[in-house]
Amino acid sequence: MYDVAIIGSGPAGLSAALYTSRANLKTLVIGKDRGALEKADRIENYFGMAEPISGCELVENTRTQARNLGVELIEDEIFHISWENGFQLEGKEGAYEANAVLLATGTGRQTVKLKGIQELEGKGVSYCAICDAFFYRGRQVAILGNGEYALHEMSQLLPVVQSAVLLTNGEPLKVQAPEGVQVIETSLASVDGQEYVEGVTFTDGTSLAVDGVFIAMGSAGAAELARKAGAMINGRHIQVNEGMETNIPGLYAAGDCIGGLLQISTAVGEGAKAAMSMIKFVRTVQKSS
Ligand SMILES: Cc1cc2nc3c(=O)[nH]c(=O)nc-3n(C[C@H](O)[C@H](O)[C@H](O)COP(=O)(O)OP(=O)(O)OC[C@H]3O[C@@H](n4cnc5c(N)ncnc54)[C@H](O)[C@@H]3O)c2cc1C
Repeated sequence: MYDVAIIGSGPAGLSAALYTSRANLKTLVIGKDRGALEKADRIENYFGMAEPISGCELVENTRTQARNLGVELIEDEIFHISWENGFQLEGKEGAYEANAVLLATGTGRQTVKLKGIQELEGKGVSYCAICDAFFYRGRQVAILGNGEYALHEMSQLLPVVQSAVLLTNGEPLKVQAPEGVQVIETSLASVDGQEYVEGVTFTDGTSLAVDGVFIAMGSAGAAELARKAGAMINGRHIQVNEGMETNIPGLYAAGDCIGGLLQISTAVGEGAKAAMSMIKFVRTVQKSS
């Protein structure tokens, strides 16, 4: 069991890890890639830069700094969070347990710009199988995605629904779909329904009747993970207080995933604030056990 598990190895997550490890807390950082900074060629507005450096270099430097301070860094993609005498994190490569968790997963969920999706969100369009599968028991659903995350969402739905179809939206299938699951690779034109989802229409003019469409593009974003843990979100952003605490005790969020000024300096500052709150929380847990 880790004292602190941090999902996200960007500025917010790594900044928090520097503080928690220096406070002697057993700290794990899980990241699936370099996050937003992977695409940043030239950073010159961050404190202490005599010369501009690339986003990748900045992340790599901080990873080395964190490792040197005893932080454990793991490359994995987290699909799911739950709580039972501590937080359980479920990833592609393994499962992890911690007393406190920081969500530092960067911006936004991945969705598709498709007619009907926005209008039918919460009315048959869902971003969280574990949250909503129950509403679709005995019904027909489609999962829109083409990766490990889509398979994970599918595994939550299959025991409950009557049938599930995997829609890759024009991409060739990249994963092994479970036996018996229909895969449709045709591009989508729209998600249809008056009040609730009634089906989808493909660009070739054909259609498919479904009661629900679960969006599971790419990997689980901050909002999806927060929802799974029961945390309150506001649009695409996780709601936190001054101390970066969500409404779930022991669960924190920092960086681009809480919105605001989406900059390295803000993410680093919020990571530090979250670390202070987590240190206090973990010490209370340690005292009471
Ligand atoms: C092209 C570009 C240029 C930019 N230039 C600047 C600049 O010059 N100056 C500046 O201040 N800011 C710049 N920014 C913004 C800055 O990069 C972000 O504000 C900052 O990186 C946010 O940090 P973060 O830690 O919140 O998120 P990110 O840096 O996005 O890190 C998110 C982390 O979460 C991980 N993650 C996400 N989902 C999962 C999951 N399910 N499981 C495991 N890990 C997961 C990712 O792998 C990543 O490690 C730029 C952004 C872009 C895109």
